[in-house]
Amino acid sequence: MLNLVDSTPPRLLIIDDDPLLRGMAANTLRHAGFDVSEAEDGIQGLEQVKQTPFDLLLLDVMMPKLDGYEVCKHVRQSPRGERVPILMLTGLHDSTSIEQAYEAGATDFISKPINWTLLSHRVRYSLRAGLAIESAMRSHERLERAQHIANMGSWELKADGERFLCSPELARVLAVPPEVVARARPEDFLSRIGSADRDTIRAMRQAALEEGRPYQRTFVIHRFDGVARTVFEQAAVVIDHNGRQVAVEGITQDITDRVEAEERIKRLAHYDVLTGLPNRQFFNELVGPTLDRSARLGAGCAMVYVDMDRFKSVNDAVGYAQGDTVLRLISARLKASIRTSDLAMETRPPNHESMLSRVGANAFTLLLVDIADEKQATLVADRLLKAIAEPIAIDEHELVLTASIGIALYPRDAADAEGLTRCAEQAAYAAKSAGRAQHRFFDEAMNVRASARLARESDLRHAITAGQLRLHYQAKVDAGTGRITGAEALVRWQHPDRGMVSPGEFIPLAEESGLILPLTDWVLEKACEDLRRRADMGLQLVPVSVNLSSPSFADDGLRTQLEALLRRHRLEPNSLVLEVTETLLMSDVERAVARLQELREMGFKVSLDDFGTGYSSLGYLKRFPIDELKIDRSFVTDVWRGGRDGAIAVSVIALGRVFGLQVVAEGVETRGQSTFLLAHGCAQQQGYLFAKPVSGSDFDALLATPSADDGSNIIVPKDD
Ligand code: C2E
Ligand code: CA
Ligand code: CA
Repeated sequence: MLNLVDSTPPRLLIIDDDPLLRGMAANTLRHAGFDVSEAEDGIQGLEQVKQTPFDLLLLDVMMPKLDGYEVCKHVRQSPRGERVPILMLTGLHDSTSIEQAYEAGATDFISKPINWTLLSHRVRYSLRAGLAIESAMRSHERLERAQHIANMGSWELKADGERFLCSPELARVLAVPPEVVARARPEDFLSRIGSADRDTIRAMRQAALEEGRPYQRTFVIHRFDGVARTVFEQAAVVIDHNGRQVAVEGITQDITDRVEAEERIKRLAHYDVLTGLPNRQFFNELVGPTLDRSARLGAGCAMVYVDMDRFKSVNDAVGYAQGDTVLRLISARLKASIRTSDLAMETRPPNHESMLSRVGANAFTLLLVDIADEKQATLVADRLLKAIAEPIAIDEHELVLTASIGIALYPRDAADAEGLTRCAEQAAYAAKSAGRAQHRFFDEAMNVRASARLARESDLRHAITAGQLRLHYQAKVDAGTGRITGAEALVRWQHPDRGMVSPGEFIPLAEESGLILPLTDWVLEKACEDLRRRADMGLQLVPVSVNLSSPSFADDGLRTQLEALLRRHRLEPNSLVLEVTETLLMSDVERAVARLQELREMGFKVSLDDFGTGYSSLGYLKRFPIDELKIDRSFVTDVWRGGRDGAIAVSVIALGRVFGLQVVAEGVETRGQSTFLLAHGCAQQQGYLFAKPVSGSDFDALLATPSADDGSNIIVPKDD
């Protein structure tokens, strides 16, 4: 590219068959600072043009072989010669040859005889003009390229409002056929704009023409090939040097892809992918204005929280993919139920503004607008429950689902979307606790309970980290000999205000809140620490039983956690017994069996706690790889009276024998109970008769003191 500021002089080529004239011109121009080459005829000239890029050509018209016009045409057709300025040397006042020169593509002409003082000025001027054109062309090309990349095209609407100039780029963007481009009229384009915007755009263009008002707008246009696209259009007025409005100029950009991408992003941020329903956050945003409107109209709303019951078992039964299908189906039923007036037949239908959202894995919320009272909301809830309970056929399964529904009323229960949802959720929680498959209205007591619960939860969280937990031990004894055969580790909470809190109070809370995991970590750690200490003290080591809650048992990290514990405290796996309950194992039998197997292979003993209180069947018992059964206290209590519970205890003992399991009776409080159990073959006993749960150091003392001849510890039962 030529650059006049550049230090390299512009390169010129003079093609003239007249050596004298050529030489003089060359001399003059060299003198003026140009780099000049010469060619003595057209053929030589073209040859040189092919080899060297020149910044300007001086071309004589009259030459033998190839005349100047021909040379000019050839240069213009050559790849480099398209834009190079060509000055033609013509005879004076020879208007036909001048015309012919322009036709052949000449930039300008210089007439002979040549005015030598002016020559270099003419050349310089031409070069500068050429440069301007070149850069204009380049910027035009750049613009075209930019427009191409940006999927935009420009247009011009003439002041008469009749002619519409469509750029090639716009033609491409809108797939305009050439015949339309050739004589385009504004209506050709306006008629393709979606009806919603057509009149607006027409009016805006008119306003631009008449009042000089620029505009910009996004709208949908049907391209000439029929495809609908979203475009963004910006237009402004063209004013000539006299200050007159001569046209409206605009650019139209196809932004369909961007709009779609934005919509996708919006959908991802605002909607649940599975059901396409608004997510919790977006739902709250939507609900806000609706509540405000209802408040102004004095109308009531109801927030309904639908929590599917036992959905985990659906996933277990049909797999996650089909579980998702079920959720989509449920969401469709709920959606239909707020759309159809059928839902609340006996009452007014929920207002069309009512909306639905998926707020949790198995939970939905509905806002029912224009609901007057509890009675009306009850009708809706009943119908929702019915809709949910319609059987669902998945593969060969027929599922009948239920849900727990909580309802909060606006404005009675809360003043905003979030508060309302929270209340409804609490009510759903209450419905679930009350036995599922029913609805509950929110009441203040729930709120109090819920906040009390939250407070207790954070209290407990603090307890775990602040060292308020204690681990007590209750001896397990061979009733025949009085020897201590083991101990159960039982957690306590040394509460700064409430004193010693029993696990019955906080274990359920820990299980619901997930705090059971850190709590179990603490218990395991402490139990191993105590075992290590006893070993170091030279005390007799009896295995310690630790209670495992369901989340801990199911936790994938359990294996590594236990291995690390044993390594750290230098203990053998048989120093720990893991107590699990039937209900825990029954919630997912396959997984439980696999996990039990894993634990036993690692060398741990597993005990089935509270046996007889759950719903285990003998068939399952056979499948569970366990070592020990613990007869629940409730069967032990009046065992010696020979009642029904006694009979159960006896058969559990027999069962244990059949399966080769050790049987432990817990909650043994009297000699009578102990003797009866012993007589029926259950020597392993645990209960207040022998020892209450005591602190770690007290248990150490217990292990240290009364010893039998063989060095083991004997506990003498207390008198009844
Ligand atoms: P559990 O596993 O059935 O533990 C036996 C419970 O019976 C203990 O209550 C124990 O103190 C009590 N007990 C023992 N002998 C007698 C007796 O002769 N008469 C009577 N009336 N009760 C007796 P505790 O310590 O209050 O524990 C209650 C429950 O809390 C435990 O029942 C267990 O399910 C749970 N728990 C305790 N510690 C832990 C723990 O570290 N982790 C987990 N996950 N749960 C624990
Ligand atoms: Ca236990
Ligand atoms: Ca128990």
